[in-house]
Amino acid sequence: MIFIYDIIIIGAGPAGLTAALYALRANKNILILEAKTYGGQIVAAHKIQNYPAIEDISGIDFANNLYNQVKKLGADIKYETVLHIDEQRKVTTDKNTYEAKTIIIATGAKNRKLGLPEEQRYIGKGVSYCASCDGGFYKDKIVAVIGGGNTALEDALYLSSIAKQVYLIHRRDSFRGEETYYNELKKLNNVKFILNSNCVKINGSDNVENIIVKDINNGKEQQIAIDGLFIAVGQIPSNEIFANVIDVDDKGYIIAHDDVYTSKEKIFVAGDARVKKLRQLTTAVADGSLAATVAISEMR
Ligand code: NAP
Repeated sequence: MIFIYDIIIIGAGPAGLTAALYALRANKNILILEAKTYGGQIVAAHKIQNYPAIEDISGIDFANNLYNQVKKLGADIKYETVLHIDEQRKVTTDKNTYEAKTIIIATGAKNRKLGLPEEQRYIGKGVSYCASCDGGFYKDKIVAVIGGGNTALEDALYLSSIAKQVYLIHRRDSFRGEETYYNELKKLNNVKFILNSNCVKINGSDNVENIIVKDINNGKEQQIAIDGLFIAVGQIPSNEIFANVIDVDDKGYIIAHDDVYTSKEKIFVAGDARVKKLRQLTTAVADGSLAATVAISEMR
């Protein structure tokens, strides 16, 4: 006889692990499927300072705490890549097939690439998408950060404490990230803003040596010598494998109308993978708790 889980949770980031926490506390049989490592994108956060009641915690500590919390409750996490789900909630991975009464998709989003043809070639050779992972390699060196959201601002702040010089390059003249970060950055002598500009070329022999930055107003290009390039231009979802069963929008986010219900009954979505107004840790864990709660109530 095939074992049928109460809930299969796809993704072990903050949304998925919070869903697991709520489901396990309700004594449900759950399986968490994760393609890479637990924690999701939050592990790349050097500091989290906007989570209520926790003044300051690193992304890695947050992820470890949450992981340990669900493991203590007996969470079953399998490191398998989901390839397919069907309308009967059969989940096929690269290793197995499982069945569940309900599914919670919590697959988050991945880093958006800048889109330059040479970008891929320099990954790990000066190009990075994670300042807290790779920033340490740039002690007393020169780095550039591209982007204008919270990630870019936080990365620039973090890197300013390590690198000799940080260029923050953004395609507009104002940032969409929080003003607090911008105000802190303005006070730093080793941070230089290059606004209304795009990075149009990455150059180097083996490793990144310089970038070409183009002013979008006057078309002028300048070459900037750097050792490292941190690209922080947002995220994109990876929901292609679910699109056969549930509706996604034109950007690939799962349509959920600001709650966790997808277009298919008994399949729910939590966290950054869905259409939503605010993608933060607080909203990811809120989604995870709600998704588990509605999954429990609708599995009967
Ligand atoms: P984001 O807020 O979507 O910002 C992406 C930035 O990259 C934008 O400034 C955008 O420019 C720029 N951009 C996009 N494509 C580009 C391209 N091809 N070339 C140059 N620039 C490009 O992404 P994020 O900063 O990764 O943040 C994602 C979400 O996580 C947000 O909701 C953010 O608030 C949240 N987050 C929160 C925290 C925190 O609360 N501590 C930390 C990190 C992230 P435009 O502004 O011109 O569109």
